[in-house]
Amino acid sequence: MMKKIEVVLASRNQGKLKELNRLLAEELGDVIVLKSLDDIGFADDIEENGTTFAENALIKARAVAALGYVALADDSGLCVEALGGAPGVYSARYAGEHGNDAQNNALLLQNLKDKQDRAAAFVSVFACAFPDGREPIVAEGRVPGEILTAPRGEGGFGYDPLFYYAPFGKTFAELSHEEKNRISHRGAAVRAFAKLFSARMEE
Ligand code: IMP
Repeated sequence: MMKKIEVVLASRNQGKLKELNRLLAEELGDVIVLKSLDDIGFADDIEENGTTFAENALIKARAVAALGYVALADDSGLCVEALGGAPGVYSARYAGEHGNDAQNNALLLQNLKDKQDRAAAFVSVFACAFPDGREPIVAEGRVPGEILTAPRGEGGFGYDPLFYYAPFGKTFAELSHEEKNRISHRGAAVRAFAKLFSARMEE
């Protein structure tokens, strides 16, 4: 029986906290009690200036761990082969303005206009940092797909309508929440993290 441990998620996104709580509970039961930045009164912005998903996740987790908490953070994005891995860590702000999905998708289609190679992957990295100098835990999930030439589906967010997942014959915007969690980069990263975390807690 593992004892409960409080972990602060380095995010202000309540939706993300809820979803993550559910995914972690499926893997670890009620071992992790997830708190948000608001719960601990953390009001600063953390600058994500890393060049990889892992670097960005670690920057965020370490900033919160420095205050004495076990801290978890994630970073994710889309990597397109014909674009040398872009938009990558710039996924949220590919077209300039942060989080403008319509503009990001339009720019992606524009940049892939003459490309035959449509291979891409969604990548998610979770990093957990500890306040006592223990090595951080870093876990990655990745799902391969293809970028369509026009959007399909109404669900999801971000690049989901352009991301075609051949094994299901659907884009990510055509999947239910449950289907997406089962196969997504984020689901895979959370499951990998849960394994590493419980192994660490048993040390
Ligand atoms: P963040 O990890 O919350 O910073 O997300 C980075 C960006 O990557 C998002 O704004 C989306 O543009 C893109 N992204 C990450 N995961 C997904 C996904 O599951 N579907 C669609 N877009 C995603």
